[in-house]
Amino acid sequence: MTDSARMHDVTEETRAIVDLVLDYSRRRLLSQDTPLDKPLPAAELARLAGRTIDEDGIGARKAIGVFEHVLAPACITTDDPRYLSFIPSAPSKAAAAFDVVVSASALYGGSWLEGAGAVHAENEVLRWLAAEFGLPTGAGGAFVQGGTLGNLSALVAARHAAADAGARPDRWRIVCSAEAHSSIASAARVMDVDVVTVAPDSGGVLRGEAVREALEAHGDSVFAVVATAGSTNFGIVDDLAGIAAETRAHGVWLHVDGAYGLAAMLSPRARDRFAGVEHADSLVVDPHKWLFAPFDACALIYRDPELGRRAHTQHAEYLDTLTETSDWSPSDFAAHLTRRPRGLPLWFSLATYGAAVYRDAITASLELAQRIAAEIEARPEVQLVRPPQLGVVVFERIGWEKADYVAWSNRLLDEQHAFVTPSSHAGRTNARFAILNPRTTFDHLTGILDTMR
Ligand SMILES: *Cc1c(COP(=O)(O)O)cnc(C)c1O
Repeated sequence: MTDSARMHDVTEETRAIVDLVLDYSRRRLLSQDTPLDKPLPAAELARLAGRTIDEDGIGARKAIGVFEHVLAPACITTDDPRYLSFIPSAPSKAAAAFDVVVSASALYGGSWLEGAGAVHAENEVLRWLAAEFGLPTGAGGAFVQGGTLGNLSALVAARHAAADAGARPDRWRIVCSAEAHSSIASAARVMDVDVVTVAPDSGGVLRGEAVREALEAHGDSVFAVVATAGSTNFGIVDDLAGIAAETRAHGVWLHVDGAYGLAAMLSPRARDRFAGVEHADSLVVDPHKWLFAPFDACALIYRDPELGRRAHTQHAEYLDTLTETSDWSPSDFAAHLTRRPRGLPLWFSLATYGAAVYRDAITASLELAQRIAAEIEARPEVQLVRPPQLGVVVFERIGWEKADYVAWSNRLLDEQHAFVTPSSHAGRTNARFAILNPRTTFDHLTGILDTMR
């Protein structure tokens, strides 16, 4: 017979397990030289890891050994300063450490009844962000898993509000830029609505006039316009003020997807670029991107949270205790129910260091992006695709085909030099630095450029 109590009782075995896990966590949190690492083929990983799950268990010591020596090295270190692909992650030490506390405390973040203290702290962060973005007091929402779920939840609320206002089109439509993030098309598929993609200007910026034409063409079938505050590919900020003027004139919901870039508004250096965001009916920004929080966290904020609540509150007999009150329950503001209070690592880090350090860190990345862009312009064998606006720098190696970029990128990772994956624009392959890790230096970047000579 197995003794199932051993999983939950505090015994010698439990103490040993907790020590093993916290020792590992401590070492990893304090490490500055974790290798970049890389994935392995599935068969090789299976061979190296061996069988870990059977009736008796292999024990914590062996299991954490497999994790440390086989599994973790097969995961790219996303907070490495030479990780420049996609959008990197660079959790502050305080935020990463506090994530351990969130797990250790078995906090439930779905309802005020169960998690009031945690929800209070998360809401203080959301209020602070909302104020930074110029939203009125009263704006609020919840931390959700990521920008994809945040965008979906905001768009569901937008359609709900349009339907409540009496619109009954044959097909619902979202208007957004052709450069909008793929999660907007994904949300449209989930919601079974159509996307009207509008061409941005030659600089990649979605303009108010183009939005007006789409709104005039599609009438009240359009329930939301999505503007991007920092595109993932290029860091381009749409003409938020011009677009907001149109959505206000037409009475259409404005959603601002700032998952990557809106954090840059914290820097005085970039703040002006976001003028108009204060008119958003909803917005998202991902703390797991440029706000130095661990995966996974997206701040979803509504101008009028009541509209989010109306669209999303789940009703069920067993939930009546929660939903028959006016308490602030994060579950009510997105397409989710059970949730960890994933905003707490950011709360702890902001409380620890203060907001000024965040502004400085973001400003430093903006400046580094400008500096390496100038360096690229000065080198004969590479050229910028566009001047960077935020922290994304896209450039081409003159004369290279896609296969050259792929081979180069693979070699960089194989040699554990850097993680820079190829991207493409208008059918041409390019290379892209997404700069947000405060530990990324000019020398790291020139060292990578040197490998393209
Ligand atoms: C990253 C990103 C998303 C998606 O966010 P996830 O957290 O990856 O789900 C959406 N929009 C933009 C502009 C992004 O950069």
